[in-house]
Formats: sequence, structure tokens, C-alpha cells
Amino acid sequence: NLEELSGLPPGAVSHFQDEGIESLYPPQAEAVEAGATDGDSLVAAVPTASGKTMIAALSMLSAIERGGKALYIVPLRALASEKKDEFEAYEEFGVSVGVTTGNYESTDDWLATRDIVVATSEKVDSLVRNGADWLSDLTCVVSDEVHLIDDRNRGPTLEVTLAKLRALNPALQVVALSATVGNAGEIADWLDAELVASDWRPIDLQMGVHYGNAISFDDGSKREVPVDGSESQEDALVRDIVAEDASALVFVNSRRNAEAAARRLANVVAPELDDEEKAALDELADDIRDVSDSETSTDLAAAVEKGGAFHHAGLASEHRSLVEDAFRDRLLKVISATPTLAAGVNTPARRVVVRDWRRFDSTAGGMTPLDVLEVHQMMGRAGRPGLDPYGEAVLLAKSHDEQDDLFDRYIWAEAEDVRSKLAAEPALRTHVLATIASGFASTRDGLLSFMNETLYASQTDERGRLESVTDTVLDYLERNDFVEREGGTAGGSRSGADADAADDAFTSAADLATEANRDVDLRATNLGHTVSRLYLDPMSAAEIVHGLESAGSRPTAMGLYQLIARTPNMYELYLRSGEDDKYGQLYYELEDELLGDAPSEYEDNRFEDWLAALKTGALLKDWADEMDEDRLTERYSIGPGDLRGKVETAEWLLGAAETLAAEIDSDWSVAVREARARVEHGVREELLELVSVRGVGRKRARQLYQAGVESAADLRTVDKGIVLGALRGRKTAENILENAGREDPSMDGVEAIQVDGGDAPG
Ligand code: ADP
Repeated sequence: NLEELSGLPPGAVSHFQDEGIESLYPPQAEAVEAGATDGDSLVAAVPTASGKTMIAALSMLSAIERGGKALYIVPLRALASEKKDEFEAYEEFGVSVGVTTGNYESTDDWLATRDIVVATSEKVDSLVRNGADWLSDLTCVVSDEVHLIDDRNRGPTLEVTLAKLRALNPALQVVALSATVGNAGEIADWLDAELVASDWRPIDLQMGVHYGNAISFDDGSKREVPVDGSESQEDALVRDIVAEDASALVFVNSRRNAEAAARRLANVVAPELDDEEKAALDELADDIRDVSDSETSTDLAAAVEKGGAFHHAGLASEHRSLVEDAFRDRLLKVISATPTLAAGVNTPARRVVVRDWRRFDSTAGGMTPLDVLEVHQMMGRAGRPGLDPYGEAVLLAKSHDEQDDLFDRYIWAEAEDVRSKLAAEPALRTHVLATIASGFASTRDGLLSFMNETLYASQTDERGRLESVTDTVLDYLERNDFVEREGGTAGGSRSGADADAADDAFTSAADLATEANRDVDLRATNLGHTVSRLYLDPMSAAEIVHGLESAGSRPTAMGLYQLIARTPNMYELYLRSGEDDKYGQLYYELEDELLGDAPSEYEDNRFEDWLAALKTGALLKDWADEMDEDRLTERYSIGPGDLRGKVETAEWLLGAAETLAAEIDSDWSVAVREARARVEHGVREELLELVSVRGVGRKRARQLYQAGVESAADLRTVDKGIVLGALRGRKTAENILENAGREDPSMDGVEAIQVDGGDAPG
């Protein structure tokens, strides 16, 4: 019973009661028994939708009531705002909340006054690097979806961040929320935490596979769901459940597939809608179009009118919440989604269909099966407590054998173990430098004993391995002038064989000090500090520094774009078949402009990477040469979201390059700044002044320029008719004149004057 809980801020209990929570779910009660409200650390490994957030809330609120401060670490930016909204309701009983994502260069001192801070793991990592003082006030840290430590790209950041926060405050309460994984006990041991593990769910879940004309469930039962000749299995499954007045979630493996499936599924559910629903959906579609007039917006609105929607990471957040709310209100009958929806967003449905259990994996170069854990998380979205009698999660098979295979692979299978990915070199490079630069370690021994507090150290059997890879990374950082070592002998000279011999070198700092390595002091150089603060992979920084240093004359925009495109912080575009020749050709034309040492053509892989970077660079260059978005996405076969992603990464990397240029006293800061500004706005050099006026984007700037208006100063003095002729809309023209600082921006009675300045470029 909620009223029996003690140690919460006054008002908290009645708040939860108002939310419909009367008593604790069993795993929540277990967490309280394990000490959640007494400041004890715990790992809660329970199924999706079984109330993990409440475990976090009870821990954080009791910590605050004791005078402490809490941090809630989310895995995705999209979840940060969702959690903030949820926690902001606590303001009614005096608990303040702050959220921070993005901008990896600030310490966000305003958060010092907040009781609960919500942030992504990358943001917390950057706060540590920038030395945010308030982090040492934290008494309770929640890590949501802690099993993502297993993620190759983002896992190491979460792992190291948790280790650092614990180093800052050894008495810190760590509450780690995890899906059901194979080795939750190991994670609990690593965090010195109690384990609360449970299979309990608030609503029954039936799992099954659809094949032929029926679903076979794990309890042996069957349900007839016939498929008409022309329709797909998922169409039939959605039609069947919507006819029962329930809703469905269909998981697919890409954004494009989510959009295509929504188009079809909306047609499947449309005949089931009554007039009242149709009217409400029309309104919702209007709200969606109102958010933006992009193609995505139009497509989404078209599906919504018929009772369906798609959901993926490329949606605007307003779109996302409109769709989620309408689905929870049962107005939308079906959503086709990429797996991001399974991770955290609370949108249950009676029936979950996992249509795609394979996805394209670029490292493997083909389709690979999803992890059991991922599929279980999607399946866990089935069933709305209090609304549905049970939930159903269904996989699709095309043959009898496949049906058996899917039962073995996903339904009977246990989720995988979480394995640390910290030993991967890019991760270690970044985190070793950050650990030294932010003062967590000032000697090699100190570094190793810090590393010893990671999950990696507790999981590795090869005892010398972390030590030897750490030394390799230290060598790299020293060679590139990010770190200085003094005293002792360089650790990196130890060969792999030596490292293997250092069998028991893992227990404590003292044990780690072998004769050769004793007293090696580590210090980050100014350049190293800058790189760490910029949140760059040191290898990206080294590539940029080397590229800038090798430029004998002012680098061109193309040269700079290709340079940043080949850093590991930029995901390059792949070369399609036939494109080796095309970009090989371009390479010979542009050879003189490219910065740094090109690999020889005989180094196949490296040369191909170089050309792929050239392709990415060419995309950025075309964008900065004002090519239309439609043409660009077609020419490079990418989506509008991908284009925006590349442009944002390029802006960030060129911003970092500008800082690095200043740090190494390069002559090319101005060239870098200009290349950055061009990519930011997607314009040629001559428009840079105009786009600095608010309301003037790349298209309008070009129209104005062609009419002879070249700067903000021109906007203040030129004949208004010319501005109106160039921009058409009267209101737009007025706003822009106002933003440019024109004294009387009114367009009343002004006649448009057409000036033809010739063809536009691009
Ligand atoms: P998880 O984080 O485990 O996926 P959530 O914390 O989002 O799950 O909880 C799922 C839903 O269950 C939420 O709508 C929440 O309000 C509700 N809920 C949580 N705990 C209780 C409870 N003790 N009694 C009733 N409803 C609860």
C-alpha cells in the first residue's frame, strides 16, 4: 500500500494516487525492500512496462527528501523530454526538474538548483569533462535502460560515466533499470548493488508465431487469422484485432518501411472507423500538417486521416507526441514503428506484430537477426493494463520450419548477456583521454585503477588485456600530442606477450605498477584538453590537425569537407556499385584540393574509404552550392533526415576544426569558419551576409541577391518594391526588413518590382 511508504516528500503519495497508483507492483515492492527509499543501490531487471519508472521515482524522491539531488540518465534525447514532462508533475509538491541535452561544451550551472536533472549519457559525460561542480552534489543516479552498456557505439560512454560518477561520490546511490537480461547479477556486482530481478508483468503476455492461417501461441493455443490472397500477414493480423475494437503496433526495420507499412495499414483500418472517429482524425491530421509542411508531415497526415500512423526517430517531436497521445486515446488504431518506439515510449497495444526480425547491418554487409533482448522489448509493448484482458505478441513465419526457428530463436530464448564494449579502441581512445584531461587520473597506475572500476574489468578473463590496450592508446595519444608522459619507461613498449604474462596485474593499483612503469605521470596537453572538451574522438582531432598542418595554401571548402568526412565522427556515405569509378575520377580532378596524405590505390580498403569520404564531401559541397534538397536526396540516394544529419555533424566538426586551428596556430581559421557557415546555411560565399538576417534562408537569400540586394545594409536602404518583387509575400518581406533593422518596414501600398539578375547557381 502506497500509504505505508515513508521518507517521501509530503504530497508525493497523493500525487501517485491521483495518477491511479494505489499499491506497488511486486517488483516495486521488492525494490523498496531492497532499500530503494533508504539510499541503497540496486539493479532492477524487470520486463518492459512493469513500472520501472516508479522504482526510479521512489528512489529519487526519497533522496531529495533527505536533502540530496538526483540525476536521471536517459539513453535517447527523445526520452529526455518525455521523462521531464513526467517528473515536472512533482513540482506540485515542491520538487524542481531540469533537463539538458545537446551543447556538449557547457557546464549548465543553472542545474545546480534543480532537485532532479534529466540528461543523456553523452551529456553527462560532457558535463564531467567540463568539470560541472554540481555533479558532486548528486546523491542518487538513475540509469535507464542500463543494458545499453552492451551497445557498441554508445555503451562505453554510459559505462565510464557511471564509473566516474561513483568515483566522485563513493556513497552515491545508483539505481540501474534494465530489461530482463542474462547477467543482471553481474551488473549488480559491478555496481555493488542489490539485484531485483522479476518476470512479473502487470498483464498477461501471449507470444506466438503466425504462419498460414493461424497464430500458434506459446501456451499451445491457436487463433485463426486467415490471410486473403492479396494481403500480407501483417494486414490480416491488424484487420483481425481492430475488428475487436483493439489496436496494434507493427515493428519494422527501417524508417522507409515504417512509412510504407503505415500507408497500407491505414487502408486496412479505415473501413472500421465511425463518423465521430473520422472527424476527430481529420482534426488530428490538421494539427499534424500545422507542425510543418514537409513531405513527412504530409504523409503522416494522410495516414492519420485513415486511422494509422508511422513512428520513427526522424519524426519531429511535436509529431511524435501527437501520434503517441492519439494512440493511447485509441483514436489511432495502428502504428508502424521502428524499434526506437520499443525503447521506452509508453504506447502499449493489444497486439504487437514484429514483422521484421532482421535488419541491415553495415558492418556485416547484409541482413542480421535482431537480438533476443530487442525482440522481447518490442513484444513487451503488448497489452494495456486495465484496458486489455491480455497482450499478444506475434512474429511472422513464411514456412513451417521458420515457425519452429522463430519459437526457438525468440520465444523460448533467454535474452543475451550484457557485455562491456569498452575495450574497442575508439571508445578507449576517447575515454582514456577524457579521464586524464578531467583529472580522474594523473598517473598510469591511477588510470589503470580507474579502469579497474569499469564493467569491462569485472568481465574480462584476459587479465592483461585492458592494460595492454590502454598502453597502446596512451602511445597513440602521446604520438599525436594530446598527452604527455613523464618518468618511468613508456608503457606502450610492452609487447602483447609481456601483457599476457602480467597475469595477476589486475587487482589493485599497487599490483599494476610493474618495474618498467612505476611512476609514469600523465598530463593532458592544451591540445588534449581542447579535444576532450570538444567531445571529439581523438582520432578525428588528429586527422583534422594533420590535414590543416599539411595545407600549403588556403584550403578550399571541398578540401575541408572531405577532411571532416573521413574522421570517425562522421558516418560516410557508402559507395554504390559503379561509384568507385565515378569518385575515382573526381579524385583525380580534385587531388590538389584534398588535405593530408591520400592512401595509395593499392590499399583497397583505405582507398575506398577515402573515396567514400569524397562522396560525403561532395554532398556537403553541393549543399553549400545551393543545390535543391530534392535533387540532392535523389543524387545521393538519401532521405531528407540523413541530409540534415550530415549537415549538422559537418557544422559541429567544422566548429571543432576552427577551435583546433586556433589551438595549433594554423593560418586557416577563417577558411574553416567560412566553410562551416556555408554548410550551416547551405549557401555560397556571397550569400553569407544575407542569411545572417533572421527569416532569410538559402532560397530567399538567393532571390534577394539576384535582385541586387546583397546584405543587411542593402535591405535597409533598397527600394522596397525590389524586396517585395524578390520575396513575393508582403508579410514575409516586412518581417525581413524589420529583422534587418529597417526603420519603416511597412509594405503598405508598395508595388513589386521584378529585377532579373540571371540564372541561379546549383
Ligand atoms: P517501464 O519503465 O517498466 O517500461 P513504466 O514505468 O513506464 O514501465 O510503467 C508503465 C505504466 O504502468 C505507466 O503507465 C505507469 O503509470 C503504470 N504503473 C506503474 N506502477 C504502477 C502501479 N504500482 N500501479 C498501477 N499502475 C502503475
